[in-house]
Amino acid sequence: MATLKAVRGTRDLLPPETELWNRVEATARAVFARYAFGEIRTPIFEDTQLFARGVGEETDIVSKEMYTWEDRARAASEKAQSLTLRPENTAGVVRAYIEHKLDESGMLQKLFYIGPQFRRERPQRGRYRQFWQIGAEVIGPAWSGSERAIRDAEVLEMLATFLNEVGVKGWRLALNSVGSATDRPRYVAALREALAPVKATMCENCQRRAETNPLRVLDCKEPGDQATIEALPKIADFLDAESRDHFEQVKAALDTCGVPYVIDPRLVRGLDYYTRTTFEFTVPDGSGLGTQNALLGGGRYDGLSEMLGGPKAPGIGFAIGEDRLILTLQAQAAEATPKKLDAFVAPIGAAQNPAALQIAKELRAAGLTIEVGDGDFRLRKSFEAADKLAHRMVMVGEDEVASGILTVKYFEAGEQTKVPRSELAEALRTVPAK
Ligand code: AMP
Repeated sequence: MATLKAVRGTRDLLPPETELWNRVEATARAVFARYAFGEIRTPIFEDTQLFARGVGEETDIVSKEMYTWEDRARAASEKAQSLTLRPENTAGVVRAYIEHKLDESGMLQKLFYIGPQFRRERPQRGRYRQFWQIGAEVIGPAWSGSERAIRDAEVLEMLATFLNEVGVKGWRLALNSVGSATDRPRYVAALREALAPVKATMCENCQRRAETNPLRVLDCKEPGDQATIEALPKIADFLDAESRDHFEQVKAALDTCGVPYVIDPRLVRGLDYYTRTTFEFTVPDGSGLGTQNALLGGGRYDGLSEMLGGPKAPGIGFAIGEDRLILTLQAQAAEATPKKLDAFVAPIGAAQNPAALQIAKELRAAGLTIEVGDGDFRLRKSFEAADKLAHRMVMVGEDEVASGILTVKYFEAGEQTKVPRSELAEALRTVPAK
């Protein structure tokens, strides 16, 4: 029988790697809490319409990457419904914001999430069909200040702080403004006009996008198209006074806070709902991501709530690709040293197994990390396992149990001492000097 494997584009995360995932998530939670964010958990699947309307029919995500199925009714009276595994989480968060009338408090909502997303992309290093995002949204009615530039700057400053705390080196923040809902159509019209005479020389994708969604042409990575794209009109020249002023305020606040950035006039991002500030953090070549060097992206989406049938609720958010963050941290770490346990408790003889388990229980209750051996194993095997897994080994023989004095082997120091059971936890917290 053929063995079953994880589906293409999905993968298992195993220890010790999951330790790094947990550290990243714990750091995210700790940093976000300092900036007054609370956690939101939305369903993994939603009505397909949410993404069609919220993300945009013409985006790659909606047009070809979604896992969508017809959820068939069990009873004739129930209607079949088209459902989709979430390809991103902003639309879900905004749906929840509308559904739970979070605008009624009049307060700014600062929400973060951590969870898997699904896109049927061509798998490669740093690009999976199930991948994790750590994201956050700041959203609220206009009078809560959700539209103000200070919110954009705060989110960007938080991201810089998070990346520094989690240990990413050499990150680069690319920043742009894609203007308001009225600037964009003027720019798109200008792009369309400028593309008309040159599009025939461009790649197939660009030719199609020049018709359907000219902004996407700016995302093209085809080397042969770059000169043509560079010569196209720039969004900065189409911003109205308000959008220009908003962008200036964002930049001024970042300057004051010492967050470095570069302006990238081509940064329009893959999703349709962005307005004004858009951004992307990348890592330098050699950080383990290959061509997928975008670590995270985000931007402002002032009209999204209304697109989903909700009240006016300007907002800004981001999504960090957690898989890519992990790959970066692994590649940038000089030497990944696996963390060892505090001690290995080795029963000497199977009869001591229950006593060893009891001692392990006491040590674990004292907050130590412990593995227990098996008295059936030869002592040599216990020693080998203990040396691999832990800093120290506690031997639990018949005499030790009777006397309450245990023998502790300190591997790094190469020493062995006797310790009363009541002092064992304390003794295991400290390694004697060599
Ligand atoms: P997006 O939701 O497209 O703005 O993507 C935000 C971030 O999610 C990107 O910068 C990537 O780090 C990550 N990401 C997007 N798609 C994938 C994928 N298929 N596999 C792994 N990470 C991804």
